[in-house]
Amino acid sequence: MEINASEDYAKKMRAFLLELSNRLGVSLNWVIDVYYWLSDNIKSREFQLEHETDKPTRAEIIRVFDNGEEVIGVRLRFSSDSRRNEYYYTTVGRYGAKCTCERNMINGKVCKHIVAGLILMNVINVLKYSRVINLSNYEWLNEGSKGSLREDS
Ligand SMILES: [Zn+2]
Repeated sequence: MEINASEDYAKKMRAFLLELSNRLGVSLNWVIDVYYWLSDNIKSREFQLEHETDKPTRAEIIRVFDNGEEVIGVRLRFSSDSRRNEYYYTTVGRYGAKCTCERNMINGKVCKHIVAGLILMNVINVLKYSRVINLSNYEWLNEGSKGSLREDS
């Protein structure tokens, strides 16, 4: 998988995605798909794409929370896949995650947007601090995901 020209970055990203898939109990491929879906849809210098102006902007970073040692949270806005002018707001942090999309609201489940938020936090953390995010600090990830995350989301 080619994620970035930097080999070190790619290695760290791959390790993170693998751990994330293990913790969520989903396939690595599904998590990688979310990574690419996010990088295709977000306007963010963190992804360092060549044709920034041509990019769709279905996902936006509203705020990054950083304690000076690592990224500890992120707030994002996503356009709905199916409805125009409708947005989902996603907040991911150490102590929990919340998303206003139907899947998360109705089922209380970890949705694609929350997984994307975690991935984005790691992208920023690796670029800024050269470290992957320590997912063992995110206990809600284990609780919320036992058999509940649907791969079709
Ligand atoms: Zn969502």
